[in-house]
Formats: sequence, C-alpha cells, structure tokens
Amino acid sequence: MGKVLNCKEAAKVFLENIKIESEKLIEKGINPILAIVRVGKKEDDIAYEKNILKNCEKVNIKGQVHECNENIDMESFCKLIQELNRNESVHGILIFRPLPKHLDENVIKHIIDPSKDVDCMNPLNLARIFEGDLTGYLPCTPAAVMEIIKHFNIDVKGKKVAVLGRSMVVGRPLAMMMLKEDATVIICHSKTENLKEVVSGADIVAAAIGKAKFIGKDFIKDGAVVIDVGINVDNDGNLCGDVDFEAVKDKASLITPVPGGVGSITTAILLKNVIKGAKMAL
Ligand code: NAP
Repeated sequence: MGKVLNCKEAAKVFLENIKIESEKLIEKGINPILAIVRVGKKEDDIAYEKNILKNCEKVNIKGQVHECNENIDMESFCKLIQELNRNESVHGILIFRPLPKHLDENVIKHIIDPSKDVDCMNPLNLARIFEGDLTGYLPCTPAAVMEIIKHFNIDVKGKKVAVLGRSMVVGRPLAMMMLKEDATVIICHSKTENLKEVVSGADIVAAAIGKAKFIGKDFIKDGAVVIDVGINVDNDGNLCGDVDFEAVKDKASLITPVPGGVGSITTAILLKNVIKGAKMAL
C-alpha cells in the first residue's frame, strides 16, 4: 500500500508557525484581524466559519464575522466591503462563495482591496500568479496542495503533473504554481479526450473535479503521487474525494485522504495570508 499523507499533522506544524508569526506582530502592536463576510445561514458556510474561528483562536488571530441578510442588495453589500477595505484594523477579508445570484461576483471581486484579499479573489492577485510571481496572496486550496508537496518533500521538478479541473479557484492557479516549480503540467477538464490515458501517464495527479470517487485505479500509473482536492458526498452519504481511495491506494506511492487531506491545510493557508496582510501594516 502507498503511504497515506498525514495532512492533519502537517496542519498542526503550519498553525504553530503561524502562531509564532502572529505573536511577533502582537508584540509590535499589531493584532491580526480577519473579517469574514457571510451572506445568509448556509450550513456549509457556518461549518467552515466555525472551523476558521476555532483555528483563528489557536493562532491568536481575531476572527470577525459580518453576517448579511440573504436579501442584501448589491449596493449595501459593496458598501460593506468598501468599509472593510478602509478599516485599518482589518488585515484580511474573506467573502464566502458562492454568493447568491443577485450579488455579482464579477463586480465584487474587483472591489475587494487586493492588499486584504486573503482568498485571492481579485483578478489582480490572480494575475500575479499567472505571471509566475508567487510572492503575493495565493488562493488557499492550490496553495495547500503546494504546501503538501513541500512538506512531504515531493519532487515536482521536470515531473509530469496532471491537474484535473480548470476552475479559477483550484485547477488553473494550481497548474501555474506547479509550472513555477518546473513541473511539466497537463491541465485536464470535462472536454479532455482519452482522459484515462492522459492521466495514467502522469507522475503526480492532482484531482479537483468535484465528482465522487471518479478517479479509479485505471487512471493511476504505478507509484504515482495522488493529491485529492475533491470534497464530495458518496452514495452512502459519506464524505469522499474525487479519487476512489480504496481502489487507488495500492497503486499510488503517496496519496492524500479525504477527509484529512488537502482540506485540513486550507484554513492554515488562509490564516497565513492574514499574517501576510497584517505584516503590510508594519
Ligand atoms: P468547479 O468550479 O465545479 O470545476 C470543476 C472542474 O472539473 C471544471 O474545470 C470541469 O471541467 C472539470 N470536470 C468536471 N467533470 C469532469 C470530468 N468528468 N472529467 C474531467 N474534468 C471534469 O469545481 P472547483 O471549485 O474547482 O472544485 C473542485 C473540487 O474541489 C470540488 O469537489 C470541491 O468541493 C473541491 N474543493 C476543495 C477545497 C478544499 O479545501 N479541499 C476547496 C475548494 C474546492 P470544465 O471546465 O470543462 O467544466
């Protein structure tokens, strides 16, 4: 069986490092603050929010929740974001997505101040990544994948990496980050022909398609590294990834589980971004 990567342990290490950074800032008179903007009371959002607040507490970052009525109009919503942009005590702004349809994300993403955009929503921050500059804010999920790669000393240089999915939240920025590390990247999507053949040629497979257990063992080369970004619910109502873990684990050399994989690191990246924002206030 391939080694299952213990991402929860890795997350603890990241959080400890974030706490050290946060304490240094507090000593200098800066209390890092994350503003969370939530519209409505969606169960998933509330669970994610609780998890963020719990982790904020662990690392001495103050989490501040701005709950909006689900009928909030575009003007009032933009006003709230602009107020948070101007508020000097706020270092990071996280807007839970997807937003209700009447709130146009394509407008809002331009309004959020790029220097507080800890979820990397503003195209200016994304553009930097596409230019190969990874010194700014990085989107949390692809950055979590790259932290796993780094933490477990996985060599991507010159390796064939198949990224499954091309969303702006995961697949595309992840492909750019892999490219920056000199991987040979293949981006796959729903129109990719002979997907199995393409993916089974890869040394590293990063799956982010949102299809429960879609990636079976025929997709995976013997000894490949498998990073599963997917968060889905299977037919029995259990949380699972895009990869059929039981089928693939014996073929892969290293594999991330779901739950307990990429998702465990994502919040730590968000908080790392808040520290980055707070350092700008120095
Ligand atoms: P998304 O916006 O729905 O994008 C899905 C991508 O997968 C699209 O590019 C789509 O191709 C591609 N795709 C769909 N079906 C496919 C198939 N059968 N074969 C090949 N490609 C296929 O999803 P997302 O926001 O990127 O999220 C992807 C997954 O990651 C979801 O399970 C989500 O829950 C999970 N996620 C996890 C975290 C975390 O912290 N771990 C964070 C965010 C998201 P087209 O472009 O051609 O439509």
